[in-house]
Amino acid sequence: MRRSIPASPFTVTAIRAWQPSTPGSPDDWRTSLGQIIVEVELDSGVTGLGVGGGGAASIHIIDNVLRAELTHKEFHTPLEIHENLCEFTSFYGLNGIVPMAISGIDLAIWDAYAKSHNMTVLGILNPATEINASCAMYQTVIDAAGAKLAFEQGMAAVKLHLGQFGSDPSVNRIEELIQRTRDAVGLECELMLDAFGNWNVYTTRNVADRICKYDIAWIEEPLLPQEIAAYTELCRDCPIPIAGGEHEYLINGFRRLIDAHAHDVYQPDINWCGGLSTLISIYELANDHEVRVCPHRGSEAFALPAIMALDPNPLAESAREWFTAIAPLTHVERGRAVCNQGMGFGIDLAVTG
Ligand SMILES: [Mg+2]
Repeated sequence: MRRSIPASPFTVTAIRAWQPSTPGSPDDWRTSLGQIIVEVELDSGVTGLGVGGGGAASIHIIDNVLRAELTHKEFHTPLEIHENLCEFTSFYGLNGIVPMAISGIDLAIWDAYAKSHNMTVLGILNPATEINASCAMYQTVIDAAGAKLAFEQGMAAVKLHLGQFGSDPSVNRIEELIQRTRDAVGLECELMLDAFGNWNVYTTRNVADRICKYDIAWIEEPLLPQEIAAYTELCRDCPIPIAGGEHEYLINGFRRLIDAHAHDVYQPDINWCGGLSTLISIYELANDHEVRVCPHRGSEAFALPAIMALDPNPLAESAREWFTAIAPLTHVERGRAVCNQGMGFGIDLAVTG
């Protein structure tokens, strides 16, 4: 399934990274270790933009380690640079902040590289995909009214965020909410749940046994990401598919999860997991193992081309409303995400003020 990526020699002459202000972002690590913007410049003068995570720590890694490794050397494709960065950081960067930094660089390189070839990233990944095509979406909601509204706006699916029920939830109350939501959206709308890492195997099984009659497409992150053995145990006999992976990194991390059958649906985050190069490899691996991929917040500008070009069952999660430093935001038409038309990822820095 590997696409043929056009190869031509180039060097990276400059890398700049900074953390934009994100008013309204969650009061947690996603702000204190916030999203960063990376800008690269190639020897042709073409520039590219990417978004990674990890805040000031990630910027420190780019400024002190990655820039010197990357600049003024000849490469031929973004995949080659990515491989080089992963190898170079493998003694200390298999998880978390280093892959978040690599993600920002990888996406900026892909953006510049596609622009150099006067192509969209979508066109590079799959020339057969129509640039005007749109992608089915799902919206994360907290109640039945939100679900009904999203479905009426054209969303193919909704995901109920169950964080409100805590780590020792009332199964009765969860069932009431799901029943109300299913009644509100009908049987056409796919319905998922997100437990936000709050539960254990016992709780998840209890909830799943009670609610599987409502046709639930997946339960997302019922356990913490590192509880791989418990995920394997849960997946073995849970009546509802289990989703996770938004906090997993690089292709080896996903290979370990898939080998362990830790999830049924894999949700890489392109801005954290290692960038587009990693997401392409995840799609290839998932294809070989016949498991589903549904990227985290997939309707944002970076993941959407990969979903539209590579996913046999394309479904893009709604975007973070608080991340507005990159423009344009993905255009949503009747509940479907429309890919940016410009070259590369078709993005620019948002004009502030
Ligand atoms: Mg999630």
